[in-house]
Amino acid sequence: MTEYRLGVIGDPIDHSLSPQIHNLFAEQTNLKIDYQPYRVLSENLNSFVKDFFESGGDGLNVTLPHKVQCSQIATSTSPIVDIIGAANTLKSAKRSKDIFAESTDGNGLIQDLQEKSKIGSANILILGAGGSALSIIPSIADCLPKNILLDNRSQEKIQPLIERFNNLTINNSIIDNIDHFEDDIDIVINATSAGFSGAFNWYRDLNLSKKTFFYDLSYTKDNSKTPFLNWAIQYSDNYSDGFGMLINQAALSYELWTGIMPGTTINKSDLIND
Ligand code: NDP
Repeated sequence: MTEYRLGVIGDPIDHSLSPQIHNLFAEQTNLKIDYQPYRVLSENLNSFVKDFFESGGDGLNVTLPHKVQCSQIATSTSPIVDIIGAANTLKSAKRSKDIFAESTDGNGLIQDLQEKSKIGSANILILGAGGSALSIIPSIADCLPKNILLDNRSQEKIQPLIERFNNLTINNSIIDNIDHFEDDIDIVINATSAGFSGAFNWYRDLNLSKKTFFYDLSYTKDNSKTPFLNWAIQYSDNYSDGFGMLINQAALSYELWTGIMPGTTINKSDLIND
């Protein structure tokens, strides 16, 4: 049986659940994989990636802080990587110099979110204007929401983010000033790291109701709520953390490498307690 040589690169990397997730996928799909976490410093990234693939590696996941640099190392890129300028998955044929870069974050989010809330025709508010906000916007736009609204602590970062989407028709539906938006907000996505060092709070009032669905890209490793979800429950009982996105983006990477889409019904306890 072919053994796939796979891994995840980042700095730090100890926290990554990707090795456990991919080993579960391999068990489930009856494939043999060797999936290792690699802590790689930025200055060694180019040579590490080149050596990994030239010595027979099949695929790498990419996490912070290497997503942008890896999109530049690749010799070919997917349309979504061309737009966002970042990649979370690299693939190469055995011992080839060609490296293909993909980003599965946005579609991983959509696969999870659409099981929980209706995206088409919704007013979707994204909090944050960093790398993860950028990576999810094209996939959200593909689902044809009514409006995508953006808000960020540093307001000056919103416009440059929108300008990246200038050549796409979705630009028409991205709203950067939510102050005068009076329609209901159906979904709020937290793409910030606010709350990492204390309670989550947003700096201004938002037009939220008990029908609003709250989705946090961050996740906990147990049944506790993230700081954002602890804030969200004052409005609504409809919410989810980003564990499902984590599983789905991994499944899409696994499919890219092996041609087989694994099942994504995985519980936190399947990963943390083994
Ligand atoms: P970035 O560093 O690129 O962006 C951070 C964002 O958070 C910025 O918009 C920043 O605002 C905002 N922010 C930080 N602190 C505060 C605060 N105290 N109050 C308000 N806003 C704040 O991070 P990423 O976009 O890469 O990641 C964001 C989150 O998404 C992380 O928690 C990450 O773990 C999660 N994520 C989850 C994934 C999954 O698979 N579930 C995949 C990818 C990311 P400002 O511009 O003002 O600094």
